[in-house]
Amino acid sequence: DVTATKGNEFEDYFLKRELLMGIYEKGFERPSPIQEESIPIALTGSDILARAKNGTGKTAAFCIPALEKIDQDKNAIQVSNSYPGILHVCTISVVILVPTRELALQTSQVCKELGKHLKIQVMVTTGGTSLKDDIMRLYQPVHLLVGTPGRILDLAKKGICVLSDCCMLVMDEADKLLSPEFQPSIEQLIRFCPANRQILMFSATFPVTVKDFKDRYLKKPYIINLMDELTLKGITQFYAFVEERQKVHCLNTLFSKLQINQSIIFCNSVNRVELLAKKITELGYSCFYIHAKMLQDHRNRVFHDFRNGACRNLVCTDLFTRGIDIQAVNVVINFDFPKNSETYLHRVGRSGRFGHLGLAVNLITYEDRFNLYRIEQELGTEIKQIPPHIDQAIY
Ligand code: ADP
Ligand code: MG
Repeated sequence: DVTATKGNEFEDYFLKRELLMGIYEKGFERPSPIQEESIPIALTGSDILARAKNGTGKTAAFCIPALEKIDQDKNAIQVSNSYPGILHVCTISVVILVPTRELALQTSQVCKELGKHLKIQVMVTTGGTSLKDDIMRLYQPVHLLVGTPGRILDLAKKGICVLSDCCMLVMDEADKLLSPEFQPSIEQLIRFCPANRQILMFSATFPVTVKDFKDRYLKKPYIINLMDELTLKGITQFYAFVEERQKVHCLNTLFSKLQINQSIIFCNSVNRVELLAKKITELGYSCFYIHAKMLQDHRNRVFHDFRNGACRNLVCTDLFTRGIDIQAVNVVINFDFPKNSETYLHRVGRSGRFGHLGLAVNLITYEDRFNLYRIEQELGTEIKQIPPHIDQAIY
């Protein structure tokens, strides 16, 4: 539950008194769950990859540790002697990277409010504004720089911003920052930072692309995940090699051997759903079907009845995969194997919270072989060949 807190108070983090005043003046009475998870960890200096829903207070979850860590007495302006044509350099303590100008402004505003009683200078810089103005503004000390990657990289490359003392790099909306548009700049920026820099990544969504970045740049990151995520935990996954024309026969065998409480059987097209549902009925098993070409009313009725246990088996397309949670379903059969790992996860995965066991059986044709291997790799899961006998206790 994302609204449940551990009951911590902001006092528990031993923050600077001025920072605490700013927090309370902003009207925050106690930390939100993502703040409870992130603030103490961030203060230890650990890298963090944090995932939480929108509107749960991620901004303060990184702004508070950032403001706490900044040494406001550090003289941030030095006379430059290393860059020709540049007379001063500004040493930045913390950089907060965001994907858009609006978000940069909003985030810097939060920093200014929270840091109202601190003597910490916050500056925003984004593309599409005058670089000259930025350079002028950097004649003043700036401790905390909020902005988009391209512009900050520009300033770093010109030697106007020095990041060699930057102790913390925050990436908000981190998955967006790792899109091809931004990622090269981010990687270059990291190279301007010292080896002991701390990286905090926040987002509501973390696609697989983030994993690669995390593995390369984060040091033993602390993973915080406050999302209810689909997992394959507790689900035993098997495959059976079959020829297309043997699939129905194979399914018949499964029906006779498995202890099915309720099952969902996936096909890759509307036609195949209808055909298969007919075949299953002919085999003497009860069966409903749902697909996208049915009227919504009809769909709802079938779903409702299936959920209430009116029928043991449901044949469907992927229309039905997202967000379903029917706890009575203990067997999922991919009559047609899905094309990608995301679809696979949505078909087979379920919320790990309930800890129910389940069984997934994949009918794999010759053409599906490579997909099977790839999906197994991408999800870091194991799909084993189906044994002659399956212990009933595992599902
Ligand atoms: P996110 O980045 O997770 O989408 P925000 O950081 O934008 O969420 O915060 C959402 C709203 O919650 C903001 O209006 C913010 O001021 C408010 N908020 C954040 N933390 C707290 C808190 N501890 N107590 C009360 N309100 C908070
Ligand atoms: Mg946010």
